[in-house]
Amino acid sequence: VISLRGVAKTFGAFRALDGVDLDVARGEKLVVCGPSGSGKSTLIRCVNGLERHDEGEIEVEGRRLEPGTLDAVRAEVGMVFQQFNLFPHLTVLRNLTLGPMRVRRLSRADAEARARAMLEKVRIPEQAAKYPGQLSGGQQQRVAIARALCMQPRVMLFDEPTSALDPEMIKEVLDVMTDLAAEGMTMIVVTHEMGFARRVADRVAFMDAGRIVEMAPPAEFFAAPRTERCRAFLANIL
Ligand code: ATP
Ligand code: MG
Repeated sequence: VISLRGVAKTFGAFRALDGVDLDVARGEKLVVCGPSGSGKSTLIRCVNGLERHDEGEIEVEGRRLEPGTLDAVRAEVGMVFQQFNLFPHLTVLRNLTLGPMRVRRLSRADAEARARAMLEKVRIPEQAAKYPGQLSGGQQQRVAIARALCMQPRVMLFDEPTSALDPEMIKEVLDVMTDLAAEGMTMIVVTHEMGFARRVADRVAFMDAGRIVEMAPPAEFFAAPRTERCRAFLANIL
């Protein structure tokens, strides 16, 4: 479903991605971890075209990512950020109906029906009329997930979705992501929640200095990291 070949991204003289090869199969859940500045965000921002890679090739759902296909590819890819990026001046319901009405050309009634179904899925059906500022961080992040799902993406990308949350709210967001995984969604999740990685990931990737240094199923990844850098990283966060 997703394939990267020799992908590089340079900011000035700095190679934030330094030749990444990666294949993610349909329904697969990939967790990406690694030190700050290793290129995790840049990687997933390139996969949905928020950053333009400057070397190599990215394919999503059989479509090569290039200027002419950017909108088509983005429509297939849902993205959830650390900061929820909701529109503060719109109600939860309006946050959820905007994209489907504008991009998918849904009627308001259809968009609202879909929005309410997705709020049900993320377990906050009662929050539709509120503004984002009236919700807890965990609720806001679940709205952000629901908003992405309203576009019916084929793939979901998460960039540290729980790292801005208080501990008691992390679980409710991870639970929603676990539900989504169980439904068969293809997911790339940048996170340092290693409990989630163990339970949900098919593979865990470790990035360092713009490269994927290790990638293995969680049991193997945690039991026997192959590189010193990965061992040191895990020793620090576990
Ligand atoms: P973190 O764990 O802190 O989120 P990360 O692994 O997500 O880190 P990236 O955000 O992908 O790291 O950044 C990789 C490197 O690229 C960093 O050194 C960062 O400073 C640099 N970088 C990222 N975006 C830009 C940009 N727009 N302009 C210049 N440098 C950038
Ligand atoms: Mg990041």
